[in-house]
Amino acid sequence: MGQNEPILGERLERVLFDQGTIRECIAGMGGRIAQDFHGEPLTIVAVLQGGALFMADLIREIHLPLRIDAVSVSSYLGGTESSGKVTFLQEKLPNIEGRNVLVVDDILDTGRTLSAICSRFREECNPKSIRTAVLLSKKIERSVEFEADYVGFEIGNEFVVGYGLDYQDEYRNLPMIGVLKDEWIGRI
Ligand code: 5GP
Ligand code: MG
Repeated sequence: MGQNEPILGERLERVLFDQGTIRECIAGMGGRIAQDFHGEPLTIVAVLQGGALFMADLIREIHLPLRIDAVSVSSYLGGTESSGKVTFLQEKLPNIEGRNVLVVDDILDTGRTLSAICSRFREECNPKSIRTAVLLSKKIERSVEFEADYVGFEIGNEFVVGYGLDYQDEYRNLPMIGVLKDEWIGRI
């Protein structure tokens, strides 16, 4: 780590993707999405909290008229392992009736979160179509049958933080993605 690196970055054991690499990846993905949806109205729905950062950068790489919205769910409850249950933290779902929808999340792990969101949207919101985009996808056997339409990077089965991804609600503001040093697990 460089001398001017913020102190938070020094808590990482390993950097997987730095800021420039993430930016390039998102630019490429935005271009592909713009091509695929060309001429179609589009609503991007971020999965809060982590998906918000990815959405903010991604939409500026999709040069089409579009709308944004968000859905708030929780599955990790702040720890490093999925609780297995997806809880919707808001009563009102986005207004996506008749719209092409792209749900964006930071990472695809067990698949439960995006699968639950897409099912609920299909059942209750009457969208025209639903696709999904994730910055990271863990190369693991999913708990449910689900794959995203747009994937930035594939990673192994390890717990990562940064660029929206948290550990106990912190580290989301790290501009890079990496693995925390053991000494920072279990303490803030
Ligand atoms: P899934 O429902 O696919 O198991 O998990 C998706 C959610 O779990 C993501 O939105 C993210 O909040 C959280 N998650 C999964 N893997 C990681 C990880 O390695 N690090 C962090 N910080 N969150 C993760
Ligand atoms: Mg999440």
